[in-house]
Amino acid sequence: MIRKTTLLPILVALCISITSFAQVKTENVIIVTLDGMRWQEVFGGADSALLKNKKYTKDSIGTRNKFWLDDVVERRKKLFPFLWNIVANNGQIHGNRKVGSKVNVANKYLFSYPGYNEILTGYPDTAINSNNKVLNNNINVLEFINQQKNYAGKVVAFSTWDVFPYIINKWRSGIYVNADTDTLRFNNKNLQLINDMQLLTAKPIDVRPDLLTYFAAREYLKAYQPKVLYLAFDETDDFAHEGEYDQYLKSAHAQDAMIKDLWNTIETNPYYKNKTTLLITCDHGRGDYIKDNWRHHGQAFPESGQTWFAIMGPNIKATGEATAEEQIYQNQYAATIANLLGLHFLPNHPVGQPIQAVLVK
Ligand SMILES: [Zn+2]
Repeated sequence: MIRKTTLLPILVALCISITSFAQVKTENVIIVTLDGMRWQEVFGGADSALLKNKKYTKDSIGTRNKFWLDDVVERRKKLFPFLWNIVANNGQIHGNRKVGSKVNVANKYLFSYPGYNEILTGYPDTAINSNNKVLNNNINVLEFINQQKNYAGKVVAFSTWDVFPYIINKWRSGIYVNADTDTLRFNNKNLQLINDMQLLTAKPIDVRPDLLTYFAAREYLKAYQPKVLYLAFDETDDFAHEGEYDQYLKSAHAQDAMIKDLWNTIETNPYYKNKTTLLITCDHGRGDYIKDNWRHHGQAFPESGQTWFAIMGPNIKATGEATAEEQIYQNQYAATIANLLGLHFLPNHPVGQPIQAVLVK
């Protein structure tokens, strides 16, 4: 009898031999995460019941004017114009459960550190069970890429949340991680200005605003041309926890606009144009429509394991919104990102398989 432990390496070897890469056209990857952004709004736009509820939406009329349209396809475009006008037409969006496309986290905890660990390492490690500043022992795909020829020192992360240096374990991985108000020590005027601003902001969510995280990432990209950039926004989750539905929507809308601005920066720069893939996703979902469950996530809210992702780039077939029955897991992103660059991510822990639906071109 073959023991399981001896079968596994054989299966892994078999999988490697039958996996054929798509023709490699992607030279750079941008990953963007919207913390705790629900698929319900991504695919359905603003929720009418939450807009009407004064407890969650103080300026009901103003918020409705900004984000409401009767037609669901037009309504979601109003909230996420870049996602629906550009990514949906040139790439793919998965996770609309109403039409059968399911994206879930594989970890059982349904909150941030386990989610980001799963995205970046491909491994829903049960030992990662808190949001504490604990060094992550798992090898992540960013450091794996950073170890490859041509990528050393070219993989960076900018985050609003101050736990990312631990999730990515910058001390071991060697990845440059700029989180919260980490000093932007660069001989670059724009980055110096952003550094001054981040030290003087009122910090409405107790870490630097997403806007400053974004501009730091954009100006770094323009000045130093990283090949892999991870940009992690945070505000949507904070405003949802506070029960501020209007602010949650405004943050989501602003994040969409910042991603659009980033893509315009990519498309007008010959170093990146037509050679860069953009992946947009979230770390977890939130509760559904009962009472104020939309504010929360975690094991008590099983629906918060439901997520979504969007992807666009030179290797990605423009199939738009996924409407066929499918089940994709968050632990598949890491291997997919590596594959886009023509690499196999095979660390010393289990990893989800690359997502075939996005690697067909
Ligand atoms: Zn949260």
